[in-house]
Amino acid sequence: MEKKIRELLSAIIHPEKGHDLLSGGMVERIEASAERIVVTLRFAKARDPFAPKLRKQAQEAIAEAFPQCTVEVDVHEGTPRKVEAEQKSTTGQIGHVVAVASGKGGVGKSTVTANLAIALRNLGYRVGILDADIYGPSQPKLFGVEDYLPAAVHEDDMDQIVPAESMGIKIMSIGFFVKPNDALLWRGAMAVNALRQLIHQTRWGKLDVLLTDLPPGTGDIHLSIINELKIDSAVIVSTPQQVAVADVRRGVELFRNPQVKIPVAGIVENMAWFTPAELPQNRYYLFGRGGARRFAEENGVDFLGEIPIVQSIMEGSDAGSPAATCDPMVEPYYRDVAQKIVDKVMKNQL
Ligand code: ADP
Repeated sequence: MEKKIRELLSAIIHPEKGHDLLSGGMVERIEASAERIVVTLRFAKARDPFAPKLRKQAQEAIAEAFPQCTVEVDVHEGTPRKVEAEQKSTTGQIGHVVAVASGKGGVGKSTVTANLAIALRNLGYRVGILDADIYGPSQPKLFGVEDYLPAAVHEDDMDQIVPAESMGIKIMSIGFFVKPNDALLWRGAMAVNALRQLIHQTRWGKLDVLLTDLPPGTGDIHLSIINELKIDSAVIVSTPQQVAVADVRRGVELFRNPQVKIPVAGIVENMAWFTPAELPQNRYYLFGRGGARRFAEENGVDFLGEIPIVQSIMEGSDAGSPAATCDPMVEPYYRDVAQKIVDKVMKNQL
Protein backbone atom coordinates (compact mmCIF):
# COMPACT_ATOMS: atom_id res chain seq x y z
CA MET A 1 0.00 0.00 0.00
CA GLU A 2 2.74 2.43 1.00
CA LYS A 3 4.73 1.46 -2.05
CA LYS A 4 1.79 2.25 -4.31
CA ILE A 5 1.32 5.62 -2.56
CA ARG A 6 4.98 6.43 -3.10
CA GLU A 7 4.60 5.53 -6.75
CA LEU A 8 1.63 7.86 -7.11
CA LEU A 9 3.52 10.70 -5.42
CA SER A 10 6.52 10.17 -7.64
CA ALA A 11 4.31 10.86 -10.66
CA ILE A 12 3.42 14.36 -9.42
CA ILE A 13 5.90 17.05 -10.50
CA HIS A 14 6.52 20.36 -8.75
CA PRO A 15 6.17 22.77 -11.71
CA GLU A 16 8.74 25.28 -10.50
CA LYS A 17 11.36 22.91 -9.15
CA GLY A 18 10.98 20.28 -11.84
CA HIS A 19 11.31 17.31 -9.49
CA ASP A 20 8.57 14.99 -8.36
CA LEU A 21 7.23 15.01 -4.80
CA LEU A 22 9.05 11.83 -3.79
CA SER A 23 12.51 12.37 -5.23
CA GLY A 24 12.37 16.03 -4.17
CA GLY A 25 12.16 14.82 -0.55
CA MET A 26 8.78 16.44 -0.08
CA VAL A 27 7.03 13.37 1.31
CA GLU A 28 7.52 13.67 5.02
CA ARG A 29 5.25 10.93 6.20
CA ILE A 30 2.88 8.23 5.00
CA GLU A 31 0.52 6.48 7.36
CA ALA A 32 -1.66 3.88 5.75
CA SER A 33 -4.21 1.53 7.27
CA ALA A 34 -7.10 -0.39 5.74
CA GLU A 35 -9.47 2.56 6.20
CA ARG A 36 -7.34 5.66 6.31
CA ILE A 37 -4.36 7.17 4.55
CA VAL A 38 -2.58 10.24 5.86
CA VAL A 39 0.21 11.81 3.87
CA THR A 40 2.26 14.80 4.95
CA LEU A 41 3.99 16.87 2.31
CA ARG A 42 6.76 19.25 3.28
CA PHE A 43 7.26 22.45 1.27
CA ALA A 44 10.60 24.13 2.02
CA LYS A 45 9.23 27.52 1.01
CA ALA A 46 6.59 29.08 3.23
CA ARG A 47 3.37 29.78 1.29
CA ASP A 48 4.63 27.96 -1.79
CA PRO A 49 2.09 29.02 -4.46
CA PHE A 50 2.03 25.49 -5.88
CA ALA A 51 1.25 23.86 -2.53
CA PRO A 52 -2.57 23.86 -2.76
CA LYS A 53 -2.52 22.47 -6.29
CA LEU A 54 0.02 19.74 -5.50
CA ARG A 55 -1.84 18.83 -2.37
CA LYS A 56 -5.04 18.43 -4.36
CA GLN A 57 -3.31 16.36 -7.02
CA ALA A 58 -1.87 14.03 -4.39
CA GLN A 59 -5.21 13.76 -2.63
CA GLU A 60 -7.07 12.90 -5.84
CA ALA A 61 -4.50 10.39 -7.08
CA ILE A 62 -4.46 8.49 -3.78
CA ALA A 63 -8.24 8.62 -3.35
CA GLU A 64 -8.69 7.21 -6.83
CA ALA A 65 -6.27 4.35 -6.19
CA PHE A 66 -7.73 3.53 -2.77
CA PRO A 67 -11.45 4.33 -2.99
CA GLN A 68 -12.17 2.39 0.22
CA CYS A 69 -9.99 4.75 2.30
CA THR A 70 -10.46 8.25 3.61
CA VAL A 71 -7.48 10.22 2.38
CA GLU A 72 -5.92 13.20 4.13
CA VAL A 73 -3.01 15.12 2.67
CA ASP A 74 -1.44 17.64 5.05
CA VAL A 75 0.99 20.34 4.08
CA HIS A 76 3.87 21.44 6.27
CA GLU A 77 5.95 24.47 5.41
CA GLY A 78 9.53 25.46 6.05
CA THR A 79 12.58 23.33 6.68
CA PRO A 80 11.91 20.75 9.40
CA ARG A 81 13.55 21.87 12.58
CA LYS A 82 14.52 18.53 13.94
CA VAL A 83 15.64 16.68 10.85
CA GLU A 84 18.91 15.76 12.43
CA ALA A 85 17.45 14.60 15.72
CA GLU A 86 14.82 12.56 13.92
CA GLN A 87 17.29 10.78 11.74
CA LYS A 88 19.39 9.84 14.72
CA SER A 89 18.07 7.22 17.04
CA THR A 90 19.13 5.73 20.34
CA THR A 91 17.71 2.33 19.37
CA GLY A 92 20.97 1.19 17.77
CA GLN A 93 22.15 -0.82 20.74
CA ILE A 94 18.95 -2.78 21.25
CA GLY A 95 19.21 -6.47 20.37
CA HIS A 96 15.54 -7.35 19.93
CA VAL A 97 12.30 -5.44 20.14
CA VAL A 98 9.27 -7.47 21.21
CA ALA A 99 5.83 -5.84 21.12
CA VAL A 100 3.24 -6.98 23.63
CA ALA A 101 -0.26 -6.45 22.29
CA SER A 102 -3.86 -7.33 23.07
CA GLY A 103 -7.19 -7.09 21.31
CA LYS A 104 -8.84 -5.31 24.22
CA GLY A 105 -7.88 -3.46 27.39
CA GLY A 106 -8.00 -5.09 30.80
CA VAL A 107 -6.72 -8.52 29.80
CA GLY A 108 -3.47 -8.07 31.72
CA LYS A 109 -1.16 -7.01 28.88
CA SER A 110 0.77 -4.53 31.04
CA THR A 111 1.01 -6.94 33.96
CA VAL A 112 2.31 -9.66 31.65
CA THR A 113 4.83 -7.22 30.13
CA ALA A 114 6.17 -6.21 33.56
CA ASN A 115 6.48 -9.78 34.83
CA LEU A 116 8.01 -10.99 31.58
CA ALA A 117 10.60 -8.25 31.91
CA ILE A 118 11.51 -9.57 35.35
CA ALA A 119 11.58 -13.17 34.11
CA LEU A 120 13.87 -12.20 31.21
CA ARG A 121 16.09 -10.29 33.63
CA ASN A 122 16.23 -13.41 35.81
CA LEU A 123 17.42 -15.35 32.76
CA GLY A 124 20.34 -12.94 32.56
CA TYR A 125 19.22 -10.52 29.85
CA ARG A 126 19.41 -6.72 29.85
CA VAL A 127 15.82 -5.61 29.57
CA GLY A 128 13.99 -2.36 28.86
CA ILE A 129 10.31 -1.54 28.66
CA LEU A 130 8.84 1.08 26.39
CA ASP A 131 5.37 1.82 27.67
CA ALA A 132 3.56 3.09 24.60
CA ASP A 133 0.06 2.52 25.96
CA ILE A 134 -1.20 6.07 25.60
CA TYR A 135 -4.66 5.09 26.87
CA GLY A 136 -3.44 3.68 30.18
CA PRO A 137 0.30 3.85 30.74
CA SER A 138 0.73 1.58 33.76
CA GLN A 139 4.42 0.57 33.78
CA PRO A 140 5.41 3.44 36.12
CA LYS A 141 2.97 2.14 38.73
CA LEU A 142 3.83 -1.51 38.16
CA PHE A 143 7.49 -0.71 38.90
CA GLY A 144 6.83 1.86 41.63
CA VAL A 145 8.35 4.76 39.69
CA GLU A 146 5.26 6.94 39.19
CA ASP A 147 7.05 10.00 40.52
CA TYR A 148 10.03 9.69 38.23
CA LEU A 149 10.77 12.85 36.27
CA PRO A 150 12.88 12.03 33.22
CA ALA A 151 16.00 14.14 32.85
CA ALA A 152 17.43 15.20 29.50
CA VAL A 153 21.11 14.89 28.64
CA HIS A 154 23.04 15.89 25.56
CA GLU A 155 25.05 12.93 24.32
CA ASP A 156 26.34 11.75 20.94
CA ASP A 157 25.27 15.06 19.49
CA MET A 158 21.63 14.69 20.39
CA ASP A 159 19.24 15.32 23.25
CA GLN A 160 18.49 12.09 25.05
CA ILE A 161 15.94 11.28 27.72
CA VAL A 162 17.10 9.24 30.69
CA PRO A 163 14.79 6.29 31.43
CA ALA A 164 13.75 5.25 34.93
CA GLU A 165 15.41 2.17 36.30
CA SER A 166 13.73 -0.21 38.69
CA MET A 167 14.79 -3.72 39.65
CA GLY A 168 17.37 -3.63 36.90
CA ILE A 169 14.81 -2.83 34.19
CA LYS A 170 15.02 0.41 32.19
CA ILE A 171 11.61 1.94 31.81
CA MET A 172 10.37 4.72 29.59
CA SER A 173 6.70 5.54 29.65
CA ILE A 174 4.40 8.01 28.03
CA GLY A 175 2.98 8.17 31.56
CA PHE A 176 6.01 10.15 32.77
CA PHE A 177 4.87 13.01 30.55
CA VAL A 178 1.10 12.99 30.73
CA LYS A 179 -1.35 12.72 33.60
CA PRO A 180 -3.53 9.59 33.40
CA ASN A 181 -6.75 11.52 32.85
CA ASP A 182 -5.28 13.54 30.00
CA ALA A 183 -4.18 10.53 27.98
CA LEU A 184 -7.60 9.98 26.46
CA LEU A 185 -7.77 13.56 25.27
CA TRP A 186 -4.62 13.27 23.23
CA ARG A 187 -5.08 13.84 19.58
CA GLY A 188 -3.50 11.19 17.40
CA ALA A 189 -0.76 13.40 16.02
CA MET A 190 0.31 14.59 19.46
CA ALA A 191 0.58 11.10 20.80
CA VAL A 192 2.47 9.92 17.74
CA ASN A 193 4.99 12.75 18.02
CA ALA A 194 5.56 12.10 21.70
CA LEU A 195 6.00 8.38 21.11
CA ARG A 196 8.41 9.04 18.28
CA GLN A 197 10.58 11.05 20.65
CA LEU A 198 10.46 8.36 23.31
CA ILE A 199 11.39 5.72 20.78
CA HIS A 200 14.34 7.54 19.26
CA GLN A 201 15.62 9.67 22.12
CA THR A 202 15.53 7.44 25.17
CA ARG A 203 19.00 6.70 26.42
CA TRP A 204 18.54 2.92 26.46
CA GLY A 205 22.20 2.03 26.26
CA LYS A 206 22.84 -1.63 25.52
CA LEU A 207 19.77 -3.84 25.83
CA ASP A 208 19.23 -7.45 24.86
CA VAL A 209 15.52 -6.96 24.61
CA LEU A 210 13.09 -4.06 24.65
CA LEU A 211 9.51 -5.01 25.49
CA THR A 212 7.00 -2.56 24.08
CA ASP A 213 3.67 -2.32 25.88
CA LEU A 214 1.35 -1.32 23.01
CA PRO A 215 -2.04 0.31 23.43
CA PRO A 216 -4.88 -2.24 23.25
CA GLY A 217 -6.58 -2.80 19.92
CA THR A 218 -5.42 -2.18 16.39
CA GLY A 219 -5.56 1.50 15.47
CA ASP A 220 -3.53 4.06 13.58
CA ILE A 221 -1.29 4.54 16.57
CA HIS A 222 -0.09 0.94 16.22
CA LEU A 223 0.87 1.52 12.63
CA SER A 224 2.80 4.63 13.62
CA ILE A 225 4.74 2.74 16.28
CA ILE A 226 5.37 -0.10 13.87
CA ASN A 227 6.67 2.40 11.32
CA GLU A 228 9.05 3.99 13.80
CA LEU A 229 10.35 1.05 15.75
CA LYS A 230 11.84 -2.00 14.16
CA ILE A 231 9.78 -4.61 15.97
CA ASP A 232 11.19 -8.14 15.68
CA SER A 233 8.16 -10.00 16.90
CA ALA A 234 4.86 -9.65 18.67
CA VAL A 235 3.34 -11.42 21.65
CA ILE A 236 -0.44 -11.35 21.98
CA VAL A 237 -2.02 -11.49 25.43
CA SER A 238 -5.57 -12.71 25.83
CA THR A 239 -7.88 -13.98 28.53
CA PRO A 240 -9.95 -17.15 28.03
CA GLN A 241 -13.11 -15.06 27.49
CA GLN A 242 -11.47 -12.80 24.94
CA VAL A 243 -9.77 -15.49 22.95
CA ALA A 244 -12.89 -16.44 21.00
CA VAL A 245 -13.55 -12.83 20.14
CA ALA A 246 -12.65 -11.26 16.83
CA ASP A 247 -10.42 -8.65 18.55
CA VAL A 248 -7.71 -11.19 19.18
CA ARG A 249 -7.78 -12.36 15.59
CA ARG A 250 -7.54 -8.75 14.43
CA GLY A 251 -4.51 -8.36 16.70
CA VAL A 252 -2.79 -11.25 14.96
CA GLU A 253 -3.83 -9.95 11.54
CA LEU A 254 -2.40 -6.51 12.24
CA PHE A 255 1.08 -7.96 12.51
CA ARG A 256 0.58 -10.35 9.62
CA ASN A 257 -0.63 -7.65 7.27
CA PRO A 258 1.61 -7.81 4.18
CA GLN A 259 2.65 -4.18 4.76
CA VAL A 260 3.61 -4.89 8.37
CA LYS A 261 4.94 -8.44 8.31
CA ILE A 262 6.02 -8.78 11.91
CA PRO A 263 6.27 -12.40 13.05
CA VAL A 264 3.87 -13.26 15.85
CA ALA A 265 5.89 -15.15 18.45
CA GLY A 266 2.68 -16.47 19.96
CA ILE A 267 -0.18 -16.00 22.35
CA VAL A 268 -0.13 -15.91 26.15
CA GLU A 269 -3.31 -16.86 27.96
CA ASN A 270 -3.63 -14.68 31.04
CA MET A 271 -6.10 -15.40 33.84
CA ALA A 272 -6.27 -18.99 32.56
CA TRP A 273 -7.56 -20.35 35.85
CA PHE A 274 -7.88 -19.30 39.47
CA THR A 275 -5.66 -20.73 42.17
CA PRO A 276 -6.26 -19.62 45.75
CA ALA A 277 -3.05 -18.97 47.71
CA GLU A 278 -4.07 -21.43 50.43
CA LEU A 279 -4.80 -24.24 47.93
CA PRO A 280 -1.93 -23.93 45.44
CA GLN A 281 -2.72 -27.31 43.85
CA ASN A 282 -6.28 -26.38 42.97
CA ARG A 283 -7.21 -24.92 39.63
CA TYR A 284 -10.61 -23.44 38.92
CA TYR A 285 -11.23 -22.83 35.24
CA LEU A 286 -13.71 -20.03 35.67
CA PHE A 287 -13.93 -19.10 32.02
CA GLY A 288 -13.50 -22.46 30.29
CA ARG A 289 -10.38 -24.32 29.40
CA GLY A 290 -8.02 -24.64 26.46
CA GLY A 291 -9.42 -21.76 24.40
CA ALA A 292 -6.10 -20.07 23.71
CA ARG A 293 -4.46 -23.33 22.69
CA ARG A 294 -7.25 -23.95 20.22
CA PHE A 295 -7.04 -20.39 18.94
CA ALA A 296 -3.30 -20.80 18.47
CA GLU A 297 -3.75 -24.02 16.52
CA GLU A 298 -6.52 -22.62 14.35
CA ASN A 299 -4.60 -19.48 13.53
CA GLY A 300 -1.19 -20.97 13.05
CA VAL A 301 0.46 -19.16 15.95
CA ASP A 302 2.36 -20.69 18.83
CA PHE A 303 0.97 -21.04 22.29
CA LEU A 304 3.48 -19.48 24.67
CA GLY A 305 1.88 -20.45 27.94
CA GLU A 306 -0.71 -19.61 30.51
CA ILE A 307 -0.74 -17.47 33.62
CA PRO A 308 -3.27 -18.17 36.37
CA ILE A 309 -5.26 -15.58 38.30
CA VAL A 310 -3.35 -15.22 41.53
CA GLN A 311 -3.90 -12.60 44.18
CA SER A 312 -0.20 -11.83 44.48
CA ILE A 313 -0.10 -10.79 40.81
CA MET A 314 -2.67 -8.11 41.45
CA GLU A 315 -1.13 -7.13 44.77
CA GLY A 316 2.35 -6.98 43.24
CA SER A 317 1.00 -4.63 40.57
CA ASP A 318 -0.52 -2.35 43.17
CA ALA A 319 2.59 -2.40 45.34
CA GLY A 320 4.94 -1.52 42.47
CA SER A 321 6.76 -4.82 42.55
CA PRO A 322 5.78 -7.41 39.92
CA ALA A 323 4.84 -10.78 41.42
CA ALA A 324 7.56 -12.60 39.44
CA THR A 325 10.09 -10.89 41.72
CA CYS A 326 8.72 -12.30 44.92
CA ASP A 327 6.13 -15.08 44.55
CA PRO A 328 7.77 -18.47 43.90
CA MET A 329 4.41 -19.88 42.93
CA VAL A 330 3.97 -17.36 40.15
CA GLU A 331 7.49 -16.95 38.83
CA PRO A 332 7.71 -20.30 36.92
CA TYR A 333 4.75 -19.42 34.70
CA TYR A 334 6.40 -16.24 33.50
CA ARG A 335 9.78 -17.95 33.29
CA ASP A 336 8.33 -20.54 30.88
CA VAL A 337 6.88 -17.85 28.63
CA ALA A 338 10.12 -15.84 28.80
CA GLN A 339 12.16 -18.91 27.88
CA LYS A 340 9.94 -19.57 24.86
CA ILE A 341 10.40 -15.96 23.75
CA VAL A 342 14.17 -16.27 24.15
CA ASP A 343 14.19 -19.48 22.10
CA LYS A 344 11.95 -18.13 19.38
CA VAL A 345 12.93 -14.50 19.08
CA MET A 346 16.39 -14.07 20.49
CA LYS A 347 17.72 -17.37 19.25
CA ASN A 348 15.98 -16.72 15.95
CA GLN A 349 13.74 -19.71 15.67
CA LEU A 350 10.83 -17.75 14.30
P1 ADP B 1 -4.16 -4.28 30.40
O1 ADP B 1 -2.76 -3.80 30.31
O2 ADP B 1 -4.48 -5.38 29.42
O3 ADP B 1 -5.19 -3.18 30.33
P2 ADP B 1 -3.56 -4.79 33.19
O4 ADP B 1 -2.24 -5.41 33.08
O5 ADP B 1 -3.64 -3.36 33.61
O6 ADP B 1 -4.39 -4.96 31.83
O7 ADP B 1 -4.43 -5.70 34.16
C1 ADP B 1 -5.78 -5.40 34.51
C2 ADP B 1 -6.02 -5.78 35.97
O8 ADP B 1 -5.96 -7.20 36.13
C3 ADP B 1 -4.98 -5.22 36.93
O9 ADP B 1 -5.62 -4.83 38.12
C4 ADP B 1 -4.04 -6.40 37.21
O10 ADP B 1 -3.45 -6.32 38.49
C5 ADP B 1 -5.00 -7.57 37.12
N1 ADP B 1 -4.35 -8.79 36.64
C6 ADP B 1 -3.74 -9.00 35.45
N2 ADP B 1 -3.31 -10.26 35.33
C7 ADP B 1 -3.63 -10.90 36.49
C8 ADP B 1 -3.45 -12.23 36.97
N3 ADP B 1 -2.87 -13.17 36.25
N4 ADP B 1 -3.90 -12.51 38.24
C9 ADP B 1 -4.53 -11.56 38.98
N5 ADP B 1 -4.74 -10.30 38.57
C10 ADP B 1 -4.31 -9.96 37.34
